[in-house]
Amino acid sequence: MSDLLELIEKTDQSNPVIAQMMTTDHEQVVFCQDKASGLKAIIAIHDTTLGPALGGTRMWQYNNELEAIKDVLRLSRGMTYKASISGLNLGGGKAVIIGDSYTQKSEALFRRFGKFVNSLNGKYITAEDVGISPKDMEYVNMETNHVSGLPKSLGGSGDPSPVTAYGVFMGMKAAAKVQFGTDSLAGKRVVVQGVGHVGEYLVKHLTNDGALVTISDINTERVNSVAKKYKADVVEGDLIYDLPMDIYAPCALGATINDDTIGRLKASVIAGAANNQLLDEVMHGAALKDKGVLYAPDFLINAGGLINVYREVSGISEERAMELTEDIYNTTLNIFDLASANNLTTHEAALQLAQARIKSVAKIKSKL
Ligand code: NAD
Repeated sequence: MSDLLELIEKTDQSNPVIAQMMTTDHEQVVFCQDKASGLKAIIAIHDTTLGPALGGTRMWQYNNELEAIKDVLRLSRGMTYKASISGLNLGGGKAVIIGDSYTQKSEALFRRFGKFVNSLNGKYITAEDVGISPKDMEYVNMETNHVSGLPKSLGGSGDPSPVTAYGVFMGMKAAAKVQFGTDSLAGKRVVVQGVGHVGEYLVKHLTNDGALVTISDINTERVNSVAKKYKADVVEGDLIYDLPMDIYAPCALGATINDDTIGRLKASVIAGAANNQLLDEVMHGAALKDKGVLYAPDFLINAGGLINVYREVSGISEERAMELTEDIYNTTLNIFDLASANNLTTHEAALQLAQARIKSVAKIKSKL
């Protein structure tokens, strides 16, 4: 017994989960384990004021549990604000499965995870994220209906990437309108980093609009095929940050806007699909503002995929989802106005708008 108490005490000190939850204002965090299948998962529900917490499940080999907790708390909070700023009646949630997505997957593991999702009775709705395939989600779906973003053949809304790319394009056009006085991208040099699912669709929109496109990707086959298809120029690796350009579109990894790159980047607009582009939201948001670079907040302009998935929860049509995605243009302009009127970074302005909507809905609900 004393061993157990000691262990609890130690765990509490090294993993202050509730303290972290209080800092980030999380409602609930669920820890799940199943010895038989090897499942170790964490489901984080950040805020359900606007609706059920929707967010993907990520499978990743974290170095330790604290790293997994931090990731799931950060990602679920981001989902709350993405849904809110997009006007969706969804809360924010996310799940992580701790493990190697190449060697530790099994039907049993995903079905057991599905049972845990189901035990939340729809308060959390899951979807695919990094390390998870449609097949894995099919197993989850065998145990719970609270799964979204399934392939169209299974009654889902299908690949969200084209919708995400369209939203990014809209956000980029809004930024161009403010920075260059026109939302036409004709003749503008746009550098797209990462031409995967979203990046390629974005290149297509840019080319149709007359932009001069340069692309990069660590996958040589992919970069060559997209370059050939759209007659785009190619840049290799790190050189991307030193190129003369009008617009930088990060569509691969997060945290590419950091101490090293801000000084090098020549773009006057940053607008891309990657999540968490600013390594430090406050410091690097401010550094861009000081440099006169207009940053279109990532969680606002990459929300098209979430809007597409929202069809499954709300029953809105595909056309309505496209209209909402097109509206990213107007919301982005509003954010720029708000930022400039209040001397805020664009990231801060977007966050304020998202939080204000949640507050006002909470007020209405408390009166019902
Ligand atoms: P993806 O995996 O299909 O494409 C990413 C591409 O980036 C790959 O081709 C990869 O080879 C390349 N890449 C990786 N590291 C790179 C590097 N250092 N330099 C250049 N290229 C590199 O992913 P995706 O679905 O296209 O998503 C792209 C980004 O947008 C991700 O950050 C994702 O989290 C975010 N996002 C995607 C969606 C969506 O609907 N798919 C929605 C919101 C946000």
